[in-house]
Amino acid sequence: MSEEQPAPKLSLKQKRKLQEQEELESLESKVAQPDNYVDTKFFDDLPISTKTRKGLKRSNFRQLTDIQRKAIPLALAKRDVLGAAKTGSGKTLSFLVPVLEILYRARWNAADGLGALIISPTRELAVQIFEVLKKIGREHSFSAGLIIGGKDFKVEQERVSRMNILVATPGRLLQHMDQSVGFDCDNLQALVLDEADRILDMGFQKTVNAIIENLPRSRQTMLFSATQTRSVKDLARLSLQDPEYVAVHEKSEHSTPHNLTQHYVVCELHKKLDVLFSFIRSHLQSKTIVFMSSCKQTRFVYEAFCKLQPGISLLHLHGKQKQTKRVEIFRKFTTTQHAVLFSTDIAARGLDFPAVDWVLQLDCPEDADTYIHRVGRTARFDASGHSLLLLLPTEVEGMMEELKKKKVPIEEIKVRDSKQQSVQKQLQSYCFQDSEMKYLGQRAFVSYMRSVFLQRNKNIFKATELPTEEYAASLGLAGTPKIKFINKAKAKETAASQLLEEEKEEEDEEEDEEKEKDRVRTKYDRMFQRKNQDILSEHYNKLVDFANDTVTKDDDGDDFLTIQRKDHDLESEPEEDINELVSENISKRQAKMTKKHVAKKQTKGERIVFDDEGNPHQLYEMVNEEEFLKDGDAKAQKEAYISEETKAMETADWEDKATAKQKRKEKREKRKLRKQQELMEARKERGEDVDEVVYTLGSGAEDSYSDASMSEYSSDEEEDEEREAFKRKWREAQEDEEDESRSGKKRVIETDEPVTLADQEALALKLLGA
Ligand code: ADP
Ligand code: MG
Repeated sequence: MSEEQPAPKLSLKQKRKLQEQEELESLESKVAQPDNYVDTKFFDDLPISTKTRKGLKRSNFRQLTDIQRKAIPLALAKRDVLGAAKTGSGKTLSFLVPVLEILYRARWNAADGLGALIISPTRELAVQIFEVLKKIGREHSFSAGLIIGGKDFKVEQERVSRMNILVATPGRLLQHMDQSVGFDCDNLQALVLDEADRILDMGFQKTVNAIIENLPRSRQTMLFSATQTRSVKDLARLSLQDPEYVAVHEKSEHSTPHNLTQHYVVCELHKKLDVLFSFIRSHLQSKTIVFMSSCKQTRFVYEAFCKLQPGISLLHLHGKQKQTKRVEIFRKFTTTQHAVLFSTDIAARGLDFPAVDWVLQLDCPEDADTYIHRVGRTARFDASGHSLLLLLPTEVEGMMEELKKKKVPIEEIKVRDSKQQSVQKQLQSYCFQDSEMKYLGQRAFVSYMRSVFLQRNKNIFKATELPTEEYAASLGLAGTPKIKFINKAKAKETAASQLLEEEKEEEDEEEDEEKEKDRVRTKYDRMFQRKNQDILSEHYNKLVDFANDTVTKDDDGDDFLTIQRKDHDLESEPEEDINELVSENISKRQAKMTKKHVAKKQTKGERIVFDDEGNPHQLYEMVNEEEFLKDGDAKAQKEAYISEETKAMETADWEDKATAKQKRKEKREKRKLRKQQELMEARKERGEDVDEVVYTLGSGAEDSYSDASMSEYSSDEEEDEEREAFKRKWREAQEDEEDESRSGKKRVIETDEPVTLADQEALALKLLGA
C-alpha cells in the first residue's frame, strides 16, 4: 500500500527528529570503536553530535590536545577513565565533551533527572568548570546546575531536583543528598572527579565515601588530575570497572609544562616580605599569583602592601572570605591584565586564569604535588610562564629532594641584595599607628607558625627552628606574640633529646646484659610507659623498636614503675585448637589459655567430698547408680560433658577473638581519625575549602558536613582556640586510652555478685586464674 502512495510530506519538526534519530544510530556504532579515533586531530572528526560540535566551534575549540585525543574516544565508549596530564593541558574538555555526549545519546531529558555529576575540590574550580560546560553545551537542552557552599541552600534545594548535570563541591553535594527531598541520583550515568587525587585524599575521605554510597554502582566514572592517584584502594572505593589509564605525559622528562621556567631562592624568614616587595616593584607589567600558607597571612600582607602602594593593583583570595567576594575577586583577576593576587592554596588547583606570567610561592608548599599544581596556574595551554619559590635555609634540602623525585626541573637563583628594598620600617610604623594592622600582623604571625607546625613532612618543616623574633619584627610587630604550641614542641624536643642521651649512657652500662636473649627494660622504658608521661612516651616509642619485645624484666626491682607490654595483648595470643585443649591437662592448658578462657571454663568450680578414709572424691560419686544412669550410661554422659565443655570453650574463644578484632578495629579507626583531623587542621590553617567538612567524634560520626555558608564567616581566633582545645582533649583521651591498654589496666574480670558458696568458690578460682 505504501509503495503506491507518495511519501507523506514531513513537517520540519519531524524531519529534524528523523535526522536526530539517524545521527544517534550512526554515533552509537562509531563510538563503539574508540581505536579508530586515536589519531583524530580535530573535534570535527570525533564521533560527537552536531550540537556539541557547534558548541565547541563557537567557543573556538578546534584542535584536540593530547589528553583530549586519548581520553575522549574512550570516554565516549563509556569506559571508565583515569586521566593524567600536566596542568593546563586541557583536561576539562576531556570529560565535559563525553558527559554531554553520553546524555545526548541516551536521549536524556528533564524527566530523567540527574544524569551526570562533576565534583571539584574548590568552589572556584567548580564555577570555572560550570562556565566551560555552559559554553560548549549551549546547543543542548540539558539543565545544568552549580552547587557549591556559601550560597543560599534553600534556593539550591528547589532547583537541584530538576538538574540533568551538576557541578558540585563535595560538602555541599552531600548536604543536598541528605536534606533535599527531591534530590535523586538513582539514574546517574556518569561521575567525574576533577583534581581526583585531591578529592580522594584524606581531607575529603568521609564526605566522598558518603557521596559514593548514594550513587548507583553501574555508572561510568572518570578521574582527572595532573597528579593522578593510582592507589588500588582509592580506585576500589569508586568501584571502577576495568579502567583505562590515560597518561599523556607519563614518559616525559618533567612533570611540569615545558614552557615554564622555574627557580628558587634561599631566603631567611624575616627577609621574605622584602623580597616580595622588591619582586612586585620590578614586575609591574606582569600578572602574578603569590601563594602563602594561611588566610591570615594573606590578609595581612594584602592590607600592608596596599598601604605600601607598589604601583600595581593588588587582590587577595582565601577561604574565609564571603562567597560573593570570592567570586568577585576571581573575576577581577581573570579580566585584569596586570595585577598581583595574594592567595592561599585555594587557588592552587585547576584554576585557569588567563595569561598569568608569574607564580611566586612565598611559603613552601606542603608537598611536591602542591608545588606542581601551584606553578600550574601559569604556562597554561601553549602560553609560557615563570615561577619562583622562596625557601628557608632549613627547607631547601628536604624540598629539593621531594621535587627531584617528582621530576620538577628547578634551579637556584640569587637575589641581589642591592636591589632589595626593606619594608620593615614602614610596616613597623603601620603597626604602631594602626591597632588593626598590629592585630592582623599578630594573627598572621601565629597562623604562619601554626601552619608550619602542622605540616606533616618534618624533614622540610621545622617549626622549632624558626627565628621567631626576627620574623615578628619583619612584620612590623614590636614584640613576639606568644605561641604556646611552639614552646611546647621545643620543650618536648629538648626533653626527648636529653632522655635519649641518658638512655644511651644507660645502654653502655648495660652492654653485658644486652647479650641476653630478651631485651632488658631500662628505667626509662618503664618511666616512659607510665601514665601521665605520655608526651614523652609517644616520642620514645618512635625511637625504640618494640618488635622483639616480648618478655618483661625487672632490672632493679623498682616495680611500681613496671608495666607489662605484650603479655596481655590479645592480638598476640596463639590460636588454640579447642578440642585439643579439653583433653590436655589443666595446668598446661591454663598456661596457654587467655584469662577469659580460664574464667569461663571454671565458673562452676569443683566440689569435692572426702570419704571415710579421707580420700577426696568428685561429687557425682555421691549419687547412687540408679540416679546416675537416668542421664544415660557413663560413656554417653562423658561425651555429652566433653561436647558441652567444648562448646563453651569455643564460645569463649570466639568472644575473645571478636573482642580483639573489635579493639584492633577501634584502634585503626582512631588512628585514621586522628590523621584526618590533623590534615583538616593543616588544610584549614592554609585556608582551603575545608569548611565544608566538619568531623564530629563519638556516636554521631556520620554527620560529616556542616552548612558551609554558616561556618564560613566565623573566622575568629576563638574558633581556632576551641579547635585546639578540642584537639588537645581528644589527643589526651587517646593517649590515656592507649596507656591504659598498655598497662593492662582495662582487664577487669566481670562477675555477678557471689551468692552461694559455689559462686564464691568460682570467684576465688577466677581470681586465682587471673
Ligand atoms: P587542565 O585542566 O589540564 O589544567 P584546562 O582544561 O583548564 O587544563 O585547559 C587549559 C587551557 O587550555 C584553558 O584555557 C582551555 O580553554 C584551553 N584549552 C583546552 N583545550 C583546548 C583546545 N583543544 N584548544 C584550544 N585551547 C584549549
Ligand atoms: Mg583542570
